[in-house]
Amino acid sequence: MNIHYLTLFPEMYEGVLNSSILARAKEKGIVDYHLINFRDYSEDKHNKVDDYPYGGGAGMVLKPEPIFNAMDKINVEKPRVILLCPQGSPFNQKMAEDLSTEENIVFISGHYEGYDERIRTLVTDEVSIGDYVLTGGELASMTMTDAIVRLIPGVLSNEASHQEDSFSTGMLEHPHYTRPREYRGMKVPDVLISGNHKLIEEWRTEESLKRTRERRPDLLDN
Ligand code: SAM
Repeated sequence: MNIHYLTLFPEMYEGVLNSSILARAKEKGIVDYHLINFRDYSEDKHNKVDDYPYGGGAGMVLKPEPIFNAMDKINVEKPRVILLCPQGSPFNQKMAEDLSTEENIVFISGHYEGYDERIRTLVTDEVSIGDYVLTGGELASMTMTDAIVRLIPGVLSNEASHQEDSFSTGMLEHPHYTRPREYRGMKVPDVLISGNHKLIEEWRTEESLKRTRERRPDLLDN
């Protein structure tokens, strides 16, 4: 998979794309990341990428030319082009699973008040990572990258671990325990040390359901 990031702040990505699972996925040759500063594609002699809104009002608007020019340069087969914006569809695990099968993804990160509306003609999806407003789309694109890349076969050493993750099963994940058996008076449930795999499975399903009912009953509606 090739992931392209159209951004005004490529330096923000360094720590995230060069650490942990995302770095390992790149080392394994499963994914490659391409950072594109769309200021380099401005047609303005001062490299301006924003301008005042027609009709007046607060804030600046991202001009179309730098984004269109940068997209012409990427020129890859059938990319999923994702515009990060608070007005987009809410990001979720199902969307991450769908995107993890793509060959080419382009993330467009805005700044300022908004995008010139014509930029929307370039995109296949508009996505929000939650009902709050960030300064720019960079953190949103990194959040999405993390959720997507760990689902690509071969990225995680233990495939089963993401299949059992919260949301993948339609429920929140069951509680976990590790050694010691007792810590500060808190004991590991007997069933987990019983060695009876059927009982352990039943306990985990029951705990998953209980946790989902308590914390996210909306998930059970689906
Ligand atoms: N005025 C815009 C509005 O009310 O919809 C918000 C603009 S915000 C300050 C600047 C940029 O941050 C957006 O263009 C988008 O790229 C990004 N952004 C902000 N919140 C986001 C969210 N919840 N999800 C995804 N991207 C977001």
